[in-house]
Amino acid sequence: MDSLLPTTDSEHLVVVWQKCLKIISEQITGHDYNTWFIPIKPERLEENRLILFLPEEHFYQHLEANFVVPMRDALDRVLGVDAQIGYVFPIQDKDEGVRLPAQLNHVRSQQLVEQKFNERYEESPINPNYVFENFIEGGCNRLARSAGWAVAQKPGTTSFNPLMLYGGVGLGKTHLMQAVGNYIKKNSPEKRIIYVSVDKFTTQFVNSLKNNDLETFKKYYEQVDLLLLDDIQFLTGKESTQEIFFHIFNHLQQSGRQIIMTSDCAPIALKGMADRLLSRFKWGISADLQQPDMETRMAIIQRKLQEKDIVFPPDVIEYLTQNVDSNVRELEGALNSLIHNSLHGVTLNVELAQQMIKNLIQSTLTRETNVDDVLKAVADYFAVSFEELKGKSRKKEIVLARQIAMYLAKEFTPNSLKSIGIILGGRDHSTVIHAIQTISDMVAEKKDIQTAVEDIRKKLENH
Ligand code: ADP
Ligand code: MG
Repeated sequence: MDSLLPTTDSEHLVVVWQKCLKIISEQITGHDYNTWFIPIKPERLEENRLILFLPEEHFYQHLEANFVVPMRDALDRVLGVDAQIGYVFPIQDKDEGVRLPAQLNHVRSQQLVEQKFNERYEESPINPNYVFENFIEGGCNRLARSAGWAVAQKPGTTSFNPLMLYGGVGLGKTHLMQAVGNYIKKNSPEKRIIYVSVDKFTTQFVNSLKNNDLETFKKYYEQVDLLLLDDIQFLTGKESTQEIFFHIFNHLQQSGRQIIMTSDCAPIALKGMADRLLSRFKWGISADLQQPDMETRMAIIQRKLQEKDIVFPPDVIEYLTQNVDSNVRELEGALNSLIHNSLHGVTLNVELAQQMIKNLIQSTLTRETNVDDVLKAVADYFAVSFEELKGKSRKKEIVLARQIAMYLAKEFTPNSLKSIGIILGGRDHSTVIHAIQTISDMVAEKKDIQTAVEDIRKKLENH
């Protein structure tokens, strides 16, 4: 991977930019300097064109509108009168496109620099609502939260580098990771923070290979102060992406920059990940997030209701707390659907809550319902026998009942299509697929079929 080593003189770049900054600082107010120039990072030098990395697009408009004179002066004196400037920035709104800078002698190729950059390095924004303040702490996430908090206080300088947050879906990994990002963004606005999913990272990497511009890709990531890489389980099996990440990782770590990663399983369980990368992960700390315990679930519900200034009867809260226990995302989903309904004038009670969230807690239902339960409900409804459902009869009403049984078995049980077919008289799984398709179409078109399916569904739900 020698080709990955930096070839441009990054020290020279820094010196050039420092000189420019000095000249600019003498011509503008301290406040303007801090607000508009400190956050800028020099990106690269292309012959006599200085490319600057701006944290946001509006920076460039502001610079062009207000600071052309001092900037031009600095360029003249540091790089010469024919020196030019180019900007790159993470683009916010794709549809807005890229505007051509007007006043600083920009040429077409410069716009290209921006465009190429924007296409390739479209960042995922950090969700401003994911902050420490609304991250409920409990036994299930205490260690992870305090590690995150420590990193937020002193990024790059704690022993938590990298910090690896792991745990199942919907347990708050992304929230916590972005809370660190938001905290640092607020307290050290000059720091460059990138949040990116492994999916996006991989796409950018592949594109940079296609475009023969690996250098820019590496630079882009090697200049960050805080790298938030989400869902690294998706790195497994992607050898070249792991390889480039290994280089970036080393660079960042050695220069004291902070890395936070999330994964849906413990690092040790990450199969298909290069050992040298895994051993790097051990340099820092791993903290897991577990399923929320009862108190945490209760606290999350109460916090949410409080935020929205909504009151629920205590037994409804209790019902929710006890029944939606798998993860926080599901709990929020259930809560939101109750809130939605209660805002539409429905008076909540436990029974209603039960009705409303039953689809969300399928997992508890499916644990209890098996194919035989479905067969029984269908047989009762159509007044046919088990034998008939499982048998070979081609009688119209029996075929219909059989197909509905397959359709609902798929919905209510965790059984595979294959196993549903076997239970229903040793039929092939393609027969089951056909049945499901037929009934879906019928439900959409025929009122009586829709009613029948609904009625049987209700029975199964109250099972
Ligand atoms: P993950 O990345 O682990 O799949 P997320 O971070 O996306 O999970 O969390 C799912 C949802 O649950 C988000 O809306 C998040 O705000 C919320 N959430 C998770 N944990 C907590 C917590 N401890 N306190 C408050 N909200 C939480
Ligand atoms: Mg996530």
